Amino acid sequence: MTKAVERFLEQIAHDQTNAWWKDGVRFECCKRGCCCVTHGDAGYVILPLQDRLRLAAFLGIAPSVLVSRYCARIDGRHYLMDAPGSQACALLGPNGCTAYQARPTQCRTWPFWLENMSEEAWARTAAFCPGIGRGRLWTASEIAAQLRLQLASDFQR
Ligand code: SF4
Ligand code: SF4
Repeated sequence: MTKAVERFLEQIAHDQTNAWWKDGVRFECCKRGCCCVTHGDAGYVILPLQDRLRLAAFLGIAPSVLVSRYCARIDGRHYLMDAPGSQACALLGPNGCTAYQARPTQCRTWPFWLENMSEEAWARTAAFCPGIGRGRLWTASEIAAQLRLQLASDFQR
């Protein structure tokens, strides 16, 4: 485990009992895909190997075809591309994600990403994510689990 990952894990453990979200937050996805369109840095979805394999199986194509059709490669990492001439994810359809059951870990864990978890960043995210503030209460331990999953996905290749 790298020092950076260790620090992030310590931060999550600390925040779980100390941060503004220690009593949980309400969130329920509307599944309309409003976050599947670029919103600054939040527009990048990393696709580590396990996500590429799951998506390729769901789409019925070889992993190599998935990579050539849907991925950009930067510094050894795979990123899901936007549709040509668009700022929307290539897998976004008119009724939301066309691969929802097999969506990447980064999408499964959104909006519980480390960079979203300050009060200010959460408010910025809530401005375009209508699921924030409604639906069921996610406990601090559930949120921490999502953050750990997203962190692991960030560091996998
Ligand atoms: S994979 Fe699906 S959930 Fe993830 S950004 Fe693309 S359309 Fe949205
Ligand atoms: S913006 Fe929020 S509510 Fe809308 S699809 Fe994304 S996670 Fe769900």
